[in-house]
Amino acid sequence: MPTAAGPQILDGVALRDLMVKRIAQRMADAGDPHVCLATVLVGDDAPSHTYVRNKHKFAAAAGLSSRNEVLSATASQAQVEDLVGGLAADPAVHGILVQQPLPAHLDNDAVLRLLPADKDVDGLTAESLGRLVRSEPGLVPCTPLGVLRLLEHYQIPTVGKHAVIVGRSTLVGTPLAILLSRKGVDATATIAHSRTSDLAELCRSADIVIGASGQAKMIGAAHCKAGATLIDVGISRTEAGLVGDIDFEAVRGIAGAITPMPGGTGPMTIACLLENTLTAAALQGVAI
Ligand code: NDP
Repeated sequence: MPTAAGPQILDGVALRDLMVKRIAQRMADAGDPHVCLATVLVGDDAPSHTYVRNKHKFAAAAGLSSRNEVLSATASQAQVEDLVGGLAADPAVHGILVQQPLPAHLDNDAVLRLLPADKDVDGLTAESLGRLVRSEPGLVPCTPLGVLRLLEHYQIPTVGKHAVIVGRSTLVGTPLAILLSRKGVDATATIAHSRTSDLAELCRSADIVIGASGQAKMIGAAHCKAGATLIDVGISRTEAGLVGDIDFEAVRGIAGAITPMPGGTGPMTIACLLENTLTAAALQGVAI
């Protein structure tokens, strides 16, 4: 329930910093083994360059090595595939992230197919998603994993709770629904999308609502039951700056807990990329 001071804030910056510290400690305890994350960035997209810079900054803070491979916007499919194939075969590289989106002239699926599942730290390949569905050891997409870590850390109950996820993408909505309905998490997950009828009523029936549509402030008071937990994944670039899916002011007096935007799921995505890099190294036999 919201207190007089408003809903509980699920602070992703604080949790990211804690996770980075824990990973650094785990690395130190294991004698600082070589664990390396490689990123592949093609083109000049400014937000992508910022995201990648941040990933390297936090990898270093966690005691991980990293390689930043950058190709020009005119790189050919063969050049990108040569680079990714080389990283895939290199035993000194444990995690590979191909920054999305690739320029439109490139075949993203063909590039992703080159990633061995044990190095797929973004969890986006068919093999990784298959392992997720089958609850087999593997790498889970970072943003959904970040949402789960936020719920765990702030002790938001999930067992027997109803979670509505607005968005059905392969990157966020669908893997998140699978994660939340896994044994041990045990929520009942509903995936909503642009053809869902009466979204507000559906969301009002939920204990946890996750906005992952990229529609600015689409989740408001009509979508929120008293005391519900609201998690904002969506990012819209507007004239007023970056805006989430959730209308924070509209739900402030109704929600029990809410992620800030910015400072909620964004930092958690980076923290979970680092967690995945450690998991990848362990899957490849590094004692960590
Ligand atoms: P997609 O565009 O692939 O998917 C958006 C989904 O939202 C679709 O399933 C779409 O439905 C649904 N949708 C769109 N409009 C509505 C609506 N009016 N009502 C209900 N559902 C709607 O986006 P992504 O999944 O890749 O990303 C979602 C958002 O999350 C984006 O804003 C992205 O920038 C952000 N993001 C944030 C991250 C973070 O770290 N915080 C990381 C990754 C993404 P349909 O399928 O019917 O079209």
